[in-house]
Amino acid sequence: MVVKEYVTYNQVHKLCQEAAPRILEQFNPQLMIAIGGGGYVPARILRSFLKRPGSHNIPIQAIGLSLYEELPSQYPSGRNTPGEPEQPGTKVTRTQWLDLTSLGEMENLVGKRILIVDEVDDTRTTLEYAVKELEKDVEIARQKLGGKGEKTVFSVFVLHNKNKEKKGQLPEDMLNENRYLAARTTGDVWICYPWEAVDIDEHDKLAEKQPAN
Ligand code: 5GP
Repeated sequence: MVVKEYVTYNQVHKLCQEAAPRILEQFNPQLMIAIGGGGYVPARILRSFLKRPGSHNIPIQAIGLSLYEELPSQYPSGRNTPGEPEQPGTKVTRTQWLDLTSLGEMENLVGKRILIVDEVDDTRTTLEYAVKELEKDVEIARQKLGGKGEKTVFSVFVLHNKNKEKKGQLPEDMLNENRYLAARTTGDVWICYPWEAVDIDEHDKLAEKQPAN
């Protein structure tokens, strides 16, 4: 049986708040790229804590990647039940990406410190895809600019990293240079995030009943 762990909005908020000083100190991002849908809320919360007095908010760009689109066979109606573990797909599909035709948008990424934000690092397939593809696209943009400009430095923030064997890999330099941060490391459980809940009061009650961690 899959063990579920319920996480509340309050906890998500505090995980972002707690991580922010380290993110500022270690990565000092100029831009965030949120992987949708799970990365959107954490990125937005994080932005409030990364804002320095007198400076602008850090812009957030969104990409959509999907690995868990296939619906579990026990829901033949084609409808998923909120909070139920989803069947992992094997292929990452892009549901939304940066506008590669807009040189302005791509130019914006060249030479920047960029923080990629997602909610959970499970098999790492999605993160591997995101980092590889973004690195590739940014290099193409840099070349279009005549090969000028500093290298773009990517870092990653997730709320939860599951301590398990990973299928995907992150670049070695990212790991060696500590450009990967997980607010919490969990076992191989299914984490129920508040934005997936249909009944948020019930969700919060279930979270409250759990042993504190
Ligand atoms: P990965 O590519 O690391 O296997 O999975 C990434 C995506 O799978 C996440 O962004 C998320 O959408 C989904 N996912 C994996 N594990 C969980 C989990 O425990 N809870 C929820 N809600 N989604 C998960």
